[in-house]
Amino acid sequence: QFIAHRQQVEGDIHAFLSVNDEEALKQAAAVDAKIAAGEKIAALAGIPGAIKDNIVIRGQKCTAASRMLENWTSPYDAGVIERLEANDYVSVGKTNMDEFAMGSSTENSYFGPSMNPWNTEYVPGGSSGGSAAAVAAGEAVWALGSDTGGSIRQPASFCGLVGLKPTYGLVSRYGLIAFSSSLDQIGPITRDVTDAAIVLNAIAGHDERDSTSIPMEKADYTEALVNDVKGMKIGVPEEFFGKGIKPETREAIEKAIAFFKEAGAEIVPVSIPHIKSGVSVYYIIAPAEASSNLARYDGVSYGFRAPGDNIVDMYINTRTQGFGKEVKRRIMLGNYVLSAGYYDAYYKKALKVRRLLKEDFDRAYEQCDVLIAPSASGTAFKFGAFSDPLSLYMEDICTVPVNLAGLPSISIPAGFHNGLPLGMQIIGPALGEKKILRAAYTFE
Ligand code: GLN
Repeated sequence: QFIAHRQQVEGDIHAFLSVNDEEALKQAAAVDAKIAAGEKIAALAGIPGAIKDNIVIRGQKCTAASRMLENWTSPYDAGVIERLEANDYVSVGKTNMDEFAMGSSTENSYFGPSMNPWNTEYVPGGSSGGSAAAVAAGEAVWALGSDTGGSIRQPASFCGLVGLKPTYGLVSRYGLIAFSSSLDQIGPITRDVTDAAIVLNAIAGHDERDSTSIPMEKADYTEALVNDVKGMKIGVPEEFFGKGIKPETREAIEKAIAFFKEAGAEIVPVSIPHIKSGVSVYYIIAPAEASSNLARYDGVSYGFRAPGDNIVDMYINTRTQGFGKEVKRRIMLGNYVLSAGYYDAYYKKALKVRRLLKEDFDRAYEQCDVLIAPSASGTAFKFGAFSDPLSLYMEDICTVPVNLAGLPSISIPAGFHNGLPLGMQIIGPALGEKKILRAAYTFE
């Protein structure tokens, strides 16, 4: 049924970079066989899910939407894929994204953008735009995305969905194509909060192959799905509601605040002063780490190779032709801030401000359980709306502080404007997934 629906709508949406119907039908048949044999089936059994194309699946192409990996096939499964398999999942395909997850609209995909199912003149957000478009268009029930600076939450917000960025270290990144290793996290994009908890249950947990993975007991996140916020303290950080935030977004969140008050939560004004530096810090740290992570694509070990008269020419030609414009911009920025003479002035300073930002969040959580904030300045924008990269970077103001502080955050639908969905975030302290799920579930 899902394959047939995809065949009808995919021409307008372009959510997928590759599909593997044969494999999907085999996975579905295996679930049927289990049921017929009276065996117990797992929570995701037979439920079609889509996987962002920077998460590897054995024997399948994984491109990160880059020419560099256009014909690269993974020899192994990511940690999250192993866990999903243990949950009897069905994979309906690999989803489109901005190249190497750098972007906010899927316009940086080497294979062309995805469209927003609510109105195809608009972007679905990014970088996990294909994952969000697939779920919003009914081509999958749930999807995995990755979030380095908002790439799960912002597309979820633009497509009227729920997107959860887990605490740094909760979900294994083994087999996630690295962008910025101190920020990257994998998480679910779903239609509702219950589904987000179910998918998180499947993918969360310790993995010793990811050295940043937190060793901890497995939790059941569905326990947090209670319709009650009585006594909960919800912080409203004034810095998230600055000039750039559109009036319709502000209004939607004010309504949400009124709802929470009515439901018995206590609303607490808080301050996180270093949010104002979030974008500056992010666009030093993320490109710095990216320039290092992407050094491996040299035409020797992975994917694309362009010919050259000698090895240096081969490197240069491979990287010139294999990477798109935005990826090159980040590599150059990263090499610049890491170079001798600038390292202290930019990179080291950014690390210090990152620490101050984290301490701001810690102080805020002394006064409240969760924070409420916009997911983006407004609704989805039209294709080509941002001609200069800097103004598009500024759009990440609501999401990047959360990654810099390593916190969990869920984006949930909060309203509509001109027929397009608007989202808001509920941000928790480290490992506060249950708190944000509870608040989100009560609001939904
Ligand atoms: N929009 C941000 C960027 O371009 C976030 C990307 C992400 O989270 N992968 O870097």
